[in-house]
Amino acid sequence: MAVEIPKMQWAQVFEKSGGPIELKQIPVPTPGPDEVLINIKYTGVCHTDLHAWKGDWPLDTKLPLVGGHEGAGVIVQVGELVKDLKVGDHAGIKWLNSSCGACDFCMASDEPLCGDAVLSGYTRDGTFQQYAVVNAGHAARIPKHLPLDAMAPILCGGITVYKALKESGAKPGNTVVITGAGGGLGTLALQYAKAMGFRTIAVDSGDEKKQICTQQLGAEVFVDFMKEDVVESVKNNTGGLGAHAVILLAVSEKPFQQATEYCRSRGAVVCVGLPAGAKISASVFPTVVRMLTIKGSYVGNRLDTQEAIDFFARGLISAPFKVVKMSELPKIYELMQANQIAGRYVLDTSM
Ligand code: NAD
Ligand code: ZN
Ligand code: ZN
Repeated sequence: MAVEIPKMQWAQVFEKSGGPIELKQIPVPTPGPDEVLINIKYTGVCHTDLHAWKGDWPLDTKLPLVGGHEGAGVIVQVGELVKDLKVGDHAGIKWLNSSCGACDFCMASDEPLCGDAVLSGYTRDGTFQQYAVVNAGHAARIPKHLPLDAMAPILCGGITVYKALKESGAKPGNTVVITGAGGGLGTLALQYAKAMGFRTIAVDSGDEKKQICTQQLGAEVFVDFMKEDVVESVKNNTGGLGAHAVILLAVSEKPFQQATEYCRSRGAVVCVGLPAGAKISASVFPTVVRMLTIKGSYVGNRLDTQEAIDFFARGLISAPFKVVKMSELPKIYELMQANQIAGRYVLDTSM
């Protein structure tokens, strides 16, 4: 089955870090032999896209750049070596666009750690365009009955928090603190945590986020970091012992300095958020004598991807998202910068 592919398409492009983001026509890319071309229908906007535009991290982006790495759509072209995907299949583009396949990490299915990994919307043009290319092995397989708009945020947010919760070592019945719970990753984290049998304490700020976290997403407690002492509140809500695990999603340094203070002995602090220039520190003595673990967690591998999608497919994940036109991207960045987004924004790429 062949579909008509236009020569030109609409995309959100910036030429330099922090410079104007322009909605303009650019050529539709051509997939290589082991790649597929996806007609992106919806794409989530992750805080990582904002970091990429601002140039926040010690890793250069390509320029000019089309951002975006939560793209869900329909395959319109497949390279000659691709056997298990076909035109018409639903598929997604996530952060990992490809990896070398041959290094120690790739061989162990730890491809996010591959030194030659290609990153969607960072080192390769991403999903803020109508047509985007991905290595076939890294394309997320999306069952046809699933809605592509709700699916989009799963492709980074969902995979990442699911992986981080697994990395935390928490067991069913344990309490996990989600710091940054009202944001894109946080709202998904509350849902995955619940589905995995964990109890949750949400840390974020504002009445809207409080209402969503506790009334819609299953958090047992909401701690407002602007109004309350987070360490004291978490301890008070965990019998004085602290939480079994902390998932740090906030784009702010302070929670990274504080988290070990409200983590239970033998518990784990899992760093996921990537605030610019931030450092994590903890006093050595309590870290040793309370046997704490402090670790990072970075997206997920292909199996984590399929498992995260499977949780969604089984109806276990329902996090808030708003669909807007692709032209709204600069406004979304403003809201995100001001911590004013509860859940995720998803761009509709149709013009
Ligand atoms: P977001 O902007 O949607 O959410 C961040 C939330 O943190 C907001 O709700 C904000 O109110 C809250 N927050 C800010 N300061 C806080 C504080 N002091 N205490 C508690 N909450 C606070 O962002 P997002 O899309 O969810 O992404 C979060 C972070 O995760 C970003 O830095 C992003 O780059 C990173 N990220 C990492 C990975 C990974 O693989 N490690 C993957 C995706 C995203
Ligand atoms: Zn992301
Ligand atoms: Zn590799």
